[in-house]
Amino acid sequence: MRRIGSNIRKQNTDAKAKRVVRNIIRYTEGEPPRNEYPKKIVSPPRPSSCCSDENREVVGTTREVDGFKFCYKICQVCGHAVKFYFPAVTGTSVAVKEYRQWKRYMAQ
Ligand SMILES: [Zn+2]
Repeated sequence: MRRIGSNIRKQNTDAKAKRVVRNIIRYTEGEPPRNEYPKKIVSPPRPSSCCSDENREVVGTTREVDGFKFCYKICQVCGHAVKFYFPAVTGTSVAVKEYRQWKRYMAQ
């Protein structure tokens, strides 16, 4: 649970730091979740307990802006979307994934 909350905070920080990158995710309760990537992704405002790494699926392709690689991930259960930034190291090995988790914990 704490991990999910820390993800939200991190996203907000990222959005402020990189205003150049347009965020296509629209967080709203007024509309049902919708995937219109790359134009728009309508997402519930908050992640639920279903929003685990297993349920989140990468949408579209990984993009790179100013050396930062990111992609969008959508929970297949509730439709909650996140903008996911990769660490500077490339690759999706288990080691990198663990490093990512560790960084999340350290960010709290
Ligand atoms: Zn979910």
